Amino acid sequence: MSHMSASKLPPFEYYEPATVEQASKLLDNHGDEARVLAGGIDLIPRMRAGTVKVTQVVSLQRVNGLDYMRRSTAGGIDFGAMTTLHALERWEDLRVGFGALYDAIHQITSVQAKCMGTAVGNLCVATPASDVAPALAAYDAGILVAGPKGERRVPLPEFYPAYGCTALGPGEIVTGVEVPAIPKGHGAAFLNLVRTHADIAKVTVTAAVVIADGLCKQARIALGAVAPTMFSAEMAEALLEGEEMTHELIRAAAAAAARETRPIDDLRSTAEYRRATTEVLVARALHKAAGRARVSAANWGADRGPSGEGVTR
Ligand SMILES: Cc1cc2nc3c(=O)[nH]c(=O)nc-3n(C[C@H](O)[C@H](O)[C@H](O)COP(=O)(O)OP(=O)(O)OC[C@H]3O[C@@H](n4cnc5c(N)ncnc54)[C@H](O)[C@@H]3O)c2cc1C
Repeated sequence: MSHMSASKLPPFEYYEPATVEQASKLLDNHGDEARVLAGGIDLIPRMRAGTVKVTQVVSLQRVNGLDYMRRSTAGGIDFGAMTTLHALERWEDLRVGFGALYDAIHQITSVQAKCMGTAVGNLCVATPASDVAPALAAYDAGILVAGPKGERRVPLPEFYPAYGCTALGPGEIVTGVEVPAIPKGHGAAFLNLVRTHADIAKVTVTAAVVIADGLCKQARIALGAVAPTMFSAEMAEALLEGEEMTHELIRAAAAAAARETRPIDDLRSTAEYRRATTEVLVARALHKAAGRARVSAANWGADRGPSGEGVTR
């Protein structure tokens, strides 16, 4: 039995592998006793509090090739597992072309958290209240996973099979994230509702649409903090696709999205308030996204960048 105080970091073995294969092997060998360490801003406080009990910590700090950000040949963006939120926030290609993702990262008020914390660490914590996960999901991001059975790409909503869980199997780590290119007529918007700017979201929404010939060709409505995992409001998306995005249709889609939520009462909000504000935020985000999509269609190829999303704050 441990006599250690809850605020003291319990002893652990610390590893600094040089390759993904070595990191994966260490994790596989130690099973539930081992965890990956990226920026450590979530893991270390949890180990200190005793809510995560592990004896083996596998740092990714010295693993080659995990700290990258690049434009893909197809025009999307790719970044590695050790890329910090701060580096992403300062990346011009992300800010100009993927404005809703930029907004999701930019609104994180803690500079320390952004400088230490990685985007992939944020995803791997698997809290349903992440702002970053729905923003990436709305852009159809894929999670790159490597492990004993090889490499695979997991679409974002599928990365969260249940509350607090990821789709990672034994020995698997996330190596990076791929965000595909956005087409002409694409627009996206991020919105969340927080008690104070430093707090976790009560509701977090990213909507993305593609408008062509006056019709919504594709809709993405990714929601956080209103169900056990982040999820895509697929019924609401289906209502929009193939239709003209009128005020009435946006209102109906927002109501459908609210019905798809499974919120809880907790210290931040009631379930009822979460459901009601989801409807409001989804409607606002869809209006913003549709406006930006129309600008994108008109400005495609102009100097402002591919999406016309620009910077909103
Ligand atoms: C003050 C503060 C404010 C915040 N505000 C916001 C906010 O407004 N919105 C928001 O969305 N988030 C917010 N966060 C959350 C923050 O973004 C995450 O805690 C952080 O990004 C985690 O990254 P990390 O690199 O430190 O992860 P770590 O603490 O190193 O790891 C977290 C978890 O992910 C696992 N992990 C990490 N990398 C990998 C990998 N490559 N493969 C497999 N597993 C991995 C670890 O084993 C661990 O279980 C805030 C955090 C703080 C402390």
